[in-house]
Amino acid sequence: MNIHEYQAKQLFQAVGIPVPEGRIAESTAQAIAATEFLGGQAWVVKAQVHAGGRGKVGGVKLLNSVVDVAEFTEKLLNTHLVTQQTGSEGLPINSVWVEKPSAIKREFYLSLLVDRATERLIFIASQAGGMDIEEVAKTAPEKIVSVTVHPAAGLQGYHCREVGFALGLQPEQFKVLEKIMHGLYQLFLSKDASQIEINPLIETQSGELIALDAKINFDDNAVTLHPDILAFRDESQEDAKENAAKKFDLNYITLDGNIACMVNGAGLAMATMDLIKLNGGTPANFLDVGGGTNVEKVTAAFKLILADHKVKAVLVNIFGGIVKCDVIAQGILAAVEQVHVTVPVVVRLEGTNAQAGRDLLRQSGMAIVAADDLASAAAQVVKLAEQAA
Ligand code: GDP
Ligand code: MN
Repeated sequence: MNIHEYQAKQLFQAVGIPVPEGRIAESTAQAIAATEFLGGQAWVVKAQVHAGGRGKVGGVKLLNSVVDVAEFTEKLLNTHLVTQQTGSEGLPINSVWVEKPSAIKREFYLSLLVDRATERLIFIASQAGGMDIEEVAKTAPEKIVSVTVHPAAGLQGYHCREVGFALGLQPEQFKVLEKIMHGLYQLFLSKDASQIEINPLIETQSGELIALDAKINFDDNAVTLHPDILAFRDESQEDAKENAAKKFDLNYITLDGNIACMVNGAGLAMATMDLIKLNGGTPANFLDVGGGTNVEKVTAAFKLILADHKVKAVLVNIFGGIVKCDVIAQGILAAVEQVHVTVPVVVRLEGTNAQAGRDLLRQSGMAIVAADDLASAAAQVVKLAEQAA
């Protein structure tokens, strides 16, 4: 689960990580009130969406008058922000964060995440922080350091010093860095985060260290244990189709292509997407309907994938191990009838009672192509999608 920057900064503050003072605003009037509350001559206004890359597309701006703050807020609110990290439709801006400006001397990168290879928490830090960290990782990976923490020993002074030296900090700044790293570590463990990122962590002209941005992801499998984090949830920032899928226990992820896939088993779903690509097509989604599929699930899955108007053809790929293919075929027929599927559907059934399943589909009189094997199913669905497009 994702939360907004301003919520993450609240959590930062609670564990002693310095953040600029700010106020959330859901209207222009609230933004003006925020400038009065904060005082001063200038403010930073930041679009609150569940994505980074806002600075590059005009979602973050330093403004020198209340009128400018009001105008900029008016322009942002109730629009969508499209960044490198969102889909082409972007995410809705329902609020802006109004913040006291900081005098930046240097921008660092600091994050804490799970390193799957070592199965440990790892700090990633770089002097080359700010908006182009992805580029740094690609072109100058030597500018990025990583420090692994052993779970039994926990975070130690030497971990913090290693990061401090890598960032080229002054001795008096090490204490603050230590506080920031301990805050991150404590937050990560106590709230079951999966990733925390500060980009940029800044050094101000007067030498302070401040988290200017804040991004936290939480482990979906643990978030129900944390009502305070769940209260931060903003469904307007989430994919409606993915949320609907969760209700039916379907594993669904929206993608950019036009061939919908419905598959039982995550590995088979990956292989199916690969085969679509190999044949020159592009998948519209990843969808694993799970092992114990039934008519209700198949129907829900059809509704889900057809709600995506990009879809030009559907590929159903089921391996009948526990479930029997003729039962699946009946489910597909019932679902297609119920949902009024208007795009071509190619079905590949293999496993228990596969032939009986294929016969049922072929005899149904419905516009369903019962393919003999996966390779021909993929080739056929790509061709049908091309014809429809
Ligand atoms: P992101 O683009 O979504 O990651 O948004 P950030 O919160 O990281 O802001 C983008 C950039 O805006 C930062 O890297 C800074 O360069 C700039 N910025 C943000 N806040 C301030 C501020 O208080 N003062 C100044 N001078 N620049 C800021
Ligand atoms: Mn940032």
